[in-house]
Amino acid sequence: MAKFVYDFAEGNKDLKDLLGGKGANLAEMTNLGLPVPAGFTITTEACQRYLAAGTHVDGLDAEIDEHLAALERSMGRRLGDPADPLLVSVRSGAKFSMPGMMETVLNVGLNDESVDGLSRQAGGNDRFAWDSYRRLIQMFGKTVCDVPGSEFEEALHAAKVAKGVKDDVQLDADDLKGLVGAYKKVFAKHTGHDFPQDPRQQLDLAIEAVFRSWNADRAVLYRRQERIPADLGTAVNVVAMVFGNLGPDSGTGVAFTRDPATGESGIYGDYLQNAQGEDVVAGIRNTLPLADLEKIDKKSYDELLAIMATLEGHYHDLCDIEFTIERGKLWMLQTRVGKRTAAAAFTIAAQLVDEGMIDLDEALTRVSGAQLAQLMFPRFDLSGDPTAITRGVGASPGAAYGKVVFSSAEAVAADGPVILVRRETNPDDLPGMIAAQGILTSRGGKTSHAAVVARGMGKTCVCGADEIEVGRDQFTVGGQVVRAGDVISIDGTTGRVYLGEVPVRPSEVVQYFEGDLDPALANEPLVAAVHLLMTHADSRAALKVRTNADTGADAARARRFGAHGIGLCRTEHMFLGDRRELVERLILAPNPAERNDALAALQPLQRADFLDIFREMNGLPVTVRLIDPPLHEFLPSLEELAVQVAVAKARGEENERDERMLSAVRRMHEQNPMLGLRGVRLGLVIPGLFAMQVRAIAEAAVALAAEGGHPKPEIMVPLVGAVQELETVRAEAERIIAEVVGDSGVEVLIGTMIEVPRAALTAGQIAEAAEFFSFGTNDLTQMAWGFSRDDVEGAFFWRYLELGIFGISPFESIDRDGVGRLVRIAAAEGRATRPGLKLGVCGEHGGDPESVHFFHEVGLDYVSCSPFRVPVARLEAGRAAVESTGSDHR
Ligand code: ADP
Ligand code: MG
Ligand code: MG
Repeated sequence: MAKFVYDFAEGNKDLKDLLGGKGANLAEMTNLGLPVPAGFTITTEACQRYLAAGTHVDGLDAEIDEHLAALERSMGRRLGDPADPLLVSVRSGAKFSMPGMMETVLNVGLNDESVDGLSRQAGGNDRFAWDSYRRLIQMFGKTVCDVPGSEFEEALHAAKVAKGVKDDVQLDADDLKGLVGAYKKVFAKHTGHDFPQDPRQQLDLAIEAVFRSWNADRAVLYRRQERIPADLGTAVNVVAMVFGNLGPDSGTGVAFTRDPATGESGIYGDYLQNAQGEDVVAGIRNTLPLADLEKIDKKSYDELLAIMATLEGHYHDLCDIEFTIERGKLWMLQTRVGKRTAAAAFTIAAQLVDEGMIDLDEALTRVSGAQLAQLMFPRFDLSGDPTAITRGVGASPGAAYGKVVFSSAEAVAADGPVILVRRETNPDDLPGMIAAQGILTSRGGKTSHAAVVARGMGKTCVCGADEIEVGRDQFTVGGQVVRAGDVISIDGTTGRVYLGEVPVRPSEVVQYFEGDLDPALANEPLVAAVHLLMTHADSRAALKVRTNADTGADAARARRFGAHGIGLCRTEHMFLGDRRELVERLILAPNPAERNDALAALQPLQRADFLDIFREMNGLPVTVRLIDPPLHEFLPSLEELAVQVAVAKARGEENERDERMLSAVRRMHEQNPMLGLRGVRLGLVIPGLFAMQVRAIAEAAVALAAEGGHPKPEIMVPLVGAVQELETVRAEAERIIAEVVGDSGVEVLIGTMIEVPRAALTAGQIAEAAEFFSFGTNDLTQMAWGFSRDDVEGAFFWRYLELGIFGISPFESIDRDGVGRLVRIAAAEGRATRPGLKLGVCGEHGGDPESVHFFHEVGLDYVSCSPFRVPVARLEAGRAAVESTGSDHR
C-alpha cells in the first residue's frame, strides 16, 4: 500500500514530486541538522486521491494518527491539550512553488480552553494566546470555510479604531479577547455553526481544505499562466508551531542569500518584531531591513547568516528562506532555490562560476532564453531628466508606462497600457496583474505578493512606495494628486515613479550584442555575465543559428547578433513598393512578350537586392526562397476594384486598366489561397518567373566573387510536395546556373522547404533532388492540423487551451507528437537517401526556446529566426547541448 505520510527525517530535497517543494526542503534542512520544528508531510499522491474521490482517502487517517502521535511524543505535548497544548500549522506545498496561491492555517489546536493553557505555557502571556487564537479563527474561517476575509479585517479595523491605535500590536489581551468574540460571530453567521472546538477535527478539516485549495480559481489561473500541470496536487505539511508573536524578543522574517533583483551578494530580507509569519509577506506593517536584526538579536542574526551560507553551499544557488525567532531562539520554516529576475539569473550564474560553486555547463542550465529576451527589452531614457514623483522598491525590472487604474477589474477592462496601482496586491488581483503593463504598490517589500508574482511573470513592478496614499480612484503623493486615467511611468529597476510617459531606450544587453556598448558599461556584472554565458553556449551548441532577413540592413544586424548566415530570405518583399507596377505588368501580361519585358525589368533589381545581402553575409550561407505567395496578393483587393470600376461606370467614365485588373483578379480568386496557386506551383505555371530569380541570384553571387568575396547562395523551392516538382524546377535552374557561373568558382546549392505533409512523408524521394531541406514549420503546422493560421488563433484557440487540448499554441511552440513526428521522419528518411543532407528550420519556431531543444534532439544543423531572436536561439542551442549530455558535475 502507498505510504501517504513522511516525517521530516524521512524525506529529502529530491522528493519534490511526492512531498512538494516545501516538504522536501523542510526534510532536507532537518537532515542537515538545521533548527526546523518537528513535523510531517502528507504526500501529493494523497491529495490526488482525495481530489479524484472527492472525499476521504483509505488508510490516510491511520497514518496521520501514527505520525501525529510521534510528533506529540517528541514535543512532549498533545494536540490541543487544554493544559499544555501542542499547536501545529497546516501548510500547502506543491512541487512548483505557487506563492500565495494556496492555503496555510496557523495555530491549529487552539480552542476556548487551550487558549488559557497556551497563555500559561508562555508564562501568563494572555495577549499572545488570544492573538494566536484570533489568527486561527481568521485563517481557518477564510481557508477552510470560505468566510470572506474582509469581514475579519473589518472587525480588526473596528477594534483598532475603538482603541484609537494604528497597529495590531497595540491591542492588548482584553481587546483581543473581544476580537475573538467578534470573529466567532462572523464565523457562525457565514457557516451556520460555531467555530469547531475539537482540535483533531480542526486538523482534519484544515488538511482537506489545503487539498481542495489546489483547485481554487486563482491556483488554476496561476498554473495556466506558469504552465504547471493541473494534476500534480499539493502536499500538506503539518508543522509544530513556533511563535514569533511572543513579544519584542520574538519575530519573523524572510531573507534571500543574494539580491533577487540584481544578483548582488549581500544580506537581503525583511524582519518584523512580534509577528506571525504571514504578516511580513502581507505587508501589514512596515518591515525592518534584515540588517537591523543584528542590533536586535545578534546571536540569532549570526546564526541566521551561518545557516544562509550553509544553504548556499548545499544548494549551490540563491536560496530564499522563512524564519521565526521565538524568544531569542531561531527556527527555520522554509527554504527553496529562490525566484529571481532575469538580470539576477545571469549575474548569479556567473558569480557562482567565479566562486567555484558550479561549472559553466551548470551555469547554462541556470539561465534561459526567455530571461535573455527580457533583458533585451528597452529601458527608460532619462536624458530628459524627468523628476520622479516618488520612489519605491524596484521589485521586478523593466520600463512600463500606462494609464493608472486602481482595481483588477479596471485593468482587465481597459484598452491600451495600464499601470495597476494598489495599496498591496493579493491573489484575487491576479487577472489585473496579468492585464497590466506594470504594478505599483504603496506597501510591502521585495517579498510581497506583488513583487513575487510580478517577477515570476516578468512584469515591471515597483512596490512599497510608502509616500503614496492610495484611494479609490486617485492617489496622492507629496500634495500631488494622480487620478485614474492619468499616465505614469514606473521603473522596476530603480523603483522610481514618474508622471507622464517617459521615453524608453534600448537595453545594455542589446548594445553589447550590437557591439556599441558604452565602454563605461563593459564591466557591468550583467554585461560580463551575458558575455561569459553566450560564449560558453556557442562553444557547446551543435545547432547553428541563422536568421530570417530580406534586406542588407537586417542581415548586418543579425550578423552582429551572432547569426551564422541567412536561413530564409523572402523574395516577395522585393516585389513591393515602387516595383508593384512591374509586378502588375508581369501578372496582367496579355502575351509572352510583355511578360518577358516585365521579368527583364525586374531582374536587375533583384540582382542588386541579392548582391547587397550576399555582401553583408560574405562567407556565410544565404538561403534565398523563390517567390512563394499567391500572386493576387500583389494586386488590389477584389472589393476595392469592384467599387472603383462600378463608380467609374456610374459616372460614365472609361477605366480600361482597372477593368482589366478586375477581371484578372476575378480569374485568380481562390477559395483557399494558402492551398492554391503558390510556391513551386507558380514556378511551374508562369514561365520565366523562377528562371528570372535564379539568374539574379547566380549573377549576384558571381559579382561578389569578382569583388573577392565568398558568396554561399542556396536556392530554396517552397511548397514542394512531390519530387517531380522539384526535379522540374531543378533542371531549369541548373542550366541557368551553369551558364551564369561558368568557371567563377561560385557554387550554388538547390534545396527545398519541407512544409507540406506529403513532402515530409516522401522525404526519401525528395532528397534525391535536394541538397538541403528547410522545415517550414508554420505551413507544416497549418497543414498537419488543418488549421488556417490567420483564422484559428482568434477564433477558438482560447477554448482549446482551456480544455487542455494543447498547453500552448502549436504555432508558438512545435507540436512534438504530430508536426514533430513529420520532422523526425523527414530528417531520417532524407538523410538515409543523402547522407550529410543539410537540415534546418525557418518557421517562427526557430526562435522558440522549447522548439530549439526539440530541433537539437532531432539532430538538425541549424535553426533560423528573426534577428532579435538570434541571441535567444544561440543561448538555447547551447543549453540544449548541455542538457542532452546530462551535465551533473559541479
Ligand atoms: P506560503 O507558502 O504562502 O509561504 P507557508 O506555509 O510558508 O505559506 O506559511 C505562511 C507563513 O506562516 C510563513 O511566513 C511561515 O513562515 C509561517 N509558518 C508556517 N508554519 C509555521 C510554524 N509551524 N510556526 C510558525 N510560523 C509558521
Ligand atoms: Mg512560505
Ligand atoms: Mg511556407
